[in-house]
Amino acid sequence: MGEIIHRSKTRPVRVGPLTIGGSNEVIIQSMTTTKTHDVEATVAQIRRLEEAGCQVVRVACPDERAAAAIPEIKKRINIPLVADIHFDYKLALKAIEGGVDKIRINPGNIGRREKVEAVVKAAKERGVPIRIGVNAGSLEKRILEKYGYPTADGMVESALYHIRILEELDFHDIIVSLKASDVRLAIEAYEKAARTFDYPLHVGITEAGTLFSGTIKSAVGLGAILSKGIGNTIRVSLSADPVEEVKVAREILKTFGLASNAATLISCPTCGRIEIDLISIANEIEDYIAKIKAPIKVAVLGCAVNGPGEAREADIGIAGARGEGLLFRHGKIVRKVPEEQMVEELKKEIDKLAEEYFAK
Ligand code: SF4
Repeated sequence: MGEIIHRSKTRPVRVGPLTIGGSNEVIIQSMTTTKTHDVEATVAQIRRLEEAGCQVVRVACPDERAAAAIPEIKKRINIPLVADIHFDYKLALKAIEGGVDKIRINPGNIGRREKVEAVVKAAKERGVPIRIGVNAGSLEKRILEKYGYPTADGMVESALYHIRILEELDFHDIIVSLKASDVRLAIEAYEKAARTFDYPLHVGITEAGTLFSGTIKSAVGLGAILSKGIGNTIRVSLSADPVEEVKVAREILKTFGLASNAATLISCPTCGRIEIDLISIANEIEDYIAKIKAPIKVAVLGCAVNGPGEAREADIGIAGARGEGLLFRHGKIVRKVPEEQMVEELKKEIDKLAEEYFAK
């Protein structure tokens, strides 16, 4: 099967030190759940997100206090910071002045022309891109009246309305999202958007749900969109700790071979041939590889009958045998280890492989 080719035709847009779009990898984003004016709590959460693999973080900027906290937050984190603003152009100006790397605001909602111009001028001067966030639940009244209910055409029309406002002011550092909690609607909207304009797409299924159901819904929706080569940055939206959003996003990207900085676990479903306590070992190894930033495939298999052969694509793995573990690389057994040492041995081998990867 061929690799998924991501839309290299999208315009590359710089967000701090990163570039979203062009031929760049899909970037993982999340959003804090703390009160943004509470700098300590917000920075602590962003640090946890960074550790989990979040590459761009967004904070809500609903008032003056939130906007005023931006310079301090920015100083203490390592990933690009995005301010989420609704309507109020003064907050947008303050956030840009405070050093944000991107703002999320819909120019059509800002109001008078002078206000839009002021925001665009400030964004241009600082090289700050603008994300237009179309949401099926809050389409413009006239679009809803035209289509009767939220449709993909209506969502793309809304995006174009906001895009045109920026283009008229000769502003092109634009990223667009078209979120819907209805997965089929979101897929259709992103497909239409990808055919209609070349700005990078921020992809997400909004209000997806709790950790369990939202993970499935996001995986199905984002999976369908990514599999078409659409999407330059993703956010998984869950009613959960945002660290979970990042973990889920990473797994989705790994599924398509789109995460170059994450290890993958292959583990068997177990069956009557099982020789080891596979479920707890698989969970332990999954936690362990979460910190590995190399694209290594690790397999944990219940028995040696089918195990190593089934996991031929794994770079390293263990298969349970009676009282021992068989360590294998690319389907070939390399040595036997006593059962009680096999997890530690596997971890050592994983570290070795990661070192080799970075030494290359
Ligand atoms: Fe069963 Fe062995 Fe396959 Fe696991 S690897 S599912 S234990 S046959």
